[in-house]
Amino acid sequence: CVFWLLFPREGFTEKQKQQRMPPTALVVGQSVMKAFQHLSTQDLHTRRVEEAYRVVVECITAVDPAMRLYMFGSTAVYGVHEKGSDVDFVALSKTDVEDGKGEDAGTQVAKGLQAEFLGKLARVVRQKHLSWNVEEVRRTRVPVIRVKGGSSVDFDITVNRRNGVRNSALLRAYFEQDPPCRWLSMGVKRWSKRAGLNASVVGGSITSYGFNLMVVYYLLQRGALRFIEPHAIDVANVAPVPPYLPLEPPRNDGAELGEQVLDFLAFYMHEFDAARHVVSLSRPGITTKEQLNWTKNAEDLARMNGEKINYQWCIEDPYELNLNVGRNVTPLKRDFLRKHLEKARETALLTTT
Ligand code: ATP
Ligand code: MG
Ligand code: MG
Repeated sequence: CVFWLLFPREGFTEKQKQQRMPPTALVVGQSVMKAFQHLSTQDLHTRRVEEAYRVVVECITAVDPAMRLYMFGSTAVYGVHEKGSDVDFVALSKTDVEDGKGEDAGTQVAKGLQAEFLGKLARVVRQKHLSWNVEEVRRTRVPVIRVKGGSSVDFDITVNRRNGVRNSALLRAYFEQDPPCRWLSMGVKRWSKRAGLNASVVGGSITSYGFNLMVVYYLLQRGALRFIEPHAIDVANVAPVPPYLPLEPPRNDGAELGEQVLDFLAFYMHEFDAARHVVSLSRPGITTKEQLNWTKNAEDLARMNGEKINYQWCIEDPYELNLNVGRNVTPLKRDFLRKHLEKARETALLTTT
């Protein structure tokens, strides 16, 4: 891809470094682009994970031939597969799919049945793939098995839950409105992992999914995207293996991306009122904590699997009832997030250090 060779590579000038001037949008954008340069030599096509899909289908079929397998998470959201990213799978029954706008059951009975299916599935995966590491995780909100497949991709498998497929399809529908916005999302995700903010690293508190909801909410507030009613997303209309959505280089040499990055940071530092407002894709405009009853009083009472629910940095899940995706953000982690948002301007989302 020739385009990648055309970028200036200097990044920050000596003068900028000495004067500690905040970098311009163009410098920020190009710095973020440079951090993703490795993608130019990678095959990002989603067909790279189709092999993993086939392997998992084989195992699922051995447990219950009527079950269907869906891929969600970042591969579905972006329509590309980044090397090293895990793949999220869910096994759905025919009725789960046909009732593609139905709510997922959150009862203990439902969780028990899911864990039972996953137990059988784990046994099959272990039998068929002796060298793989298969872990059954039962204590989470959603029962899941984690498979580390050696040289092939790692994946998570859940069962009978449509919400992951729906929220990924919703995020994707937003990014399809303006595909270059994926660069902002990918830049923010990379930064969140490196800064120790992402729940996938030790000490982190917000998942990649949470950061994606923040990115889309910011773009909606700016009028850069059109609101999509979450209820409109129907699993029956979603492809089990997400179609490839080619990733073109950012527009205007990265200037627009840089502006978006700086504006995203400014939005969450100075405009988003974390004390009163909620990041939400559930309705257009502003959602308040009061509206959802995510108050100090509720915070004092709420527990999930014995763990405290925080309402310090609120991100409403578009499909789960009364679920704060930012529930693990304690007051201390919220301050940590703010400190990093502030620093991210100078470091172009930690791409210069
Ligand atoms: P990565 O490339 O880092 O794996 P991802 O785009 O796959 O990023 P994840 O954070 O792994 O995003 O989320 C995958 C799915 O897990 C989401 O689509 C969502 O259904 C579920 N999920 C993740 N975080 C939460 C959360 N905090 N609360 C509820 N569901 C979540
Ligand atoms: Mg994932
Ligand atoms: Mg995962």
